[in-house]
Amino acid sequence: MPANKKLLVLPGDGIGPEVMREVMHVVEWMARRRSVNFDIEEDLVGGAAIDARGVAITPDAVARARQADAVLFGAVGGPKWEKLGFDNRPEIAILTLRKELGLFANLRPAVVLDPLVDASPLKADLVRGLDIMIVRESTGGIYFGEPRGIETLPDGTKRGVNTEVYTTPEIERVSRVAFDLARKRSGRLCSVEKANVMESGLLWRETVTALGAAEYPDVQLSHMYADNCAMQLARNPRQFDVIVTGNLFGDLLSDLASMLTGSLGMLPSATLGAPQPGGLRHALYEPIHGSAPDIAGKGLANPLAQMLSFAMLLRYSFDMNEDAALIETACTNVLASGLRTPDVMAPGCAKVGTHVMGEAVLRELNKLAA
Ligand code: NAD
Repeated sequence: MPANKKLLVLPGDGIGPEVMREVMHVVEWMARRRSVNFDIEEDLVGGAAIDARGVAITPDAVARARQADAVLFGAVGGPKWEKLGFDNRPEIAILTLRKELGLFANLRPAVVLDPLVDASPLKADLVRGLDIMIVRESTGGIYFGEPRGIETLPDGTKRGVNTEVYTTPEIERVSRVAFDLARKRSGRLCSVEKANVMESGLLWRETVTALGAAEYPDVQLSHMYADNCAMQLARNPRQFDVIVTGNLFGDLLSDLASMLTGSLGMLPSATLGAPQPGGLRHALYEPIHGSAPDIAGKGLANPLAQMLSFAMLLRYSFDMNEDAALIETACTNVLASGLRTPDVMAPGCAKVGTHVMGEAVLRELNKLAA
C-alpha cells in the first residue's frame, strides 16, 4: 500500500472557505474513485486566525505545514483587518509559510481555455491556445535585499533605498525548476532580466547560461530584457512557453500574463521549495486571487482557480499527471457546457453560483472516469 499523502488545508478568509469547500468534494472524489489516500488536516490562517488566536498563523500551523507533503491554501485578508499593524496583517500568514518552508519558486501558469477565449482583453486570435508558465523567484531579489530603508539626509530631504541582490545558488535553484519544467513541456525556456543595465541581471544571465550548457543542453534557452518581455507578452504571447525571472520582474510579468487570460477566478499557482530527503519538495498551492470581500458570503465566487490549484498539487507534488488532467478537463468541459459564475459570464451562458459550479465539476469527473 502506498503511504497516505499528507495535505494541510488552509482555507483562510472571505471566499477562501467557500471555494475550498467545493474543492474538498473533489479531494473526496479522488480518494473514492482513483484509489489515492489523503490524510487531511485543516487549520485557520489569516484574519480567521487573528480573530481566534491573535496571530495570522500559529507556530503549530507552520510546523504542520512543514510536516505535510503539500499545502492547499485559499486566500487571506479583508477590510476587517486592514487597520492592523504591518506585522500582524492576515497576509503575514503566506509570507511566513514562504519563508519558513523555503518556498523560492513561484509557478504561475497563464492558460487560455478555449471556452474563455473571448474573456481576454487581447484579440482571440492572439491568445487562443495560450499556455505559458512563468517561474518567479520568490524569496530573494529587491524585496529582501539589504541595505534597505528610508533615511533623512543632512539637508532634511529623504532617501529611500532597496537593493537587488542575487547569488549564484539562488539563481541556479530557481532556474533548475524552470529548466525541468521546460523539459517536460516544449523544451524551450526564456530567461528574463535587465543584463543591459543591472549587474545582478548580468550575473543572472551568465549563471542561467552556464547551468543550461552544463545540465540542460537539450533545452533551447533564450534571453530577453524584462521591458521587451512585457511588450512581447502583449504583442505575441504565444511565442513563450516557460519564462524564468527574478522576484520584481516576475511580480509584474506574471500579473500581466494572468490578465491575458482575462479571468482572475480561473488562475492557480504553486510555490515550491528545495527537494527534501526522499524527493518531495515543500510546496504550497493557491489561487492567485485574494479573498474577494466584495462577493464573500454571497455564493458567487468562481471555485475553478482553487480546483486548478489542487490539480497543480497533484501534478507537481505527486506526479499524478493523469488525475490532474482529469480535473483540468472537467473544468474546461463545464465551461464549454455554458455554465458560468458571474466573473466569467458571457452572452448565451447560464449564470450559476459557487456550489452549482462545484457540483457540475463533480458530475463531469464522474462522466470522464466512467
Ligand atoms: P481579489 O483578488 O480578492 O479581488 C479582486 C476582484 O476580483 C474583486 O472584484 C473580486 O470579487 C474578484 N474575484 C477574485 N477572485 C474571484 C473569484 N474566485 N471569483 C469571482 N470573482 C473573483 O483582490 P483584492 O480585492 O485586491 O484583495 C482583497 C483582499 O485579498 C485584500 O485583503 C488582499 O490583501 C487579499 N489578497 C490576498 C491574497 C492571498 O491570499 N494570496 C492575494 C491577493 C489579495
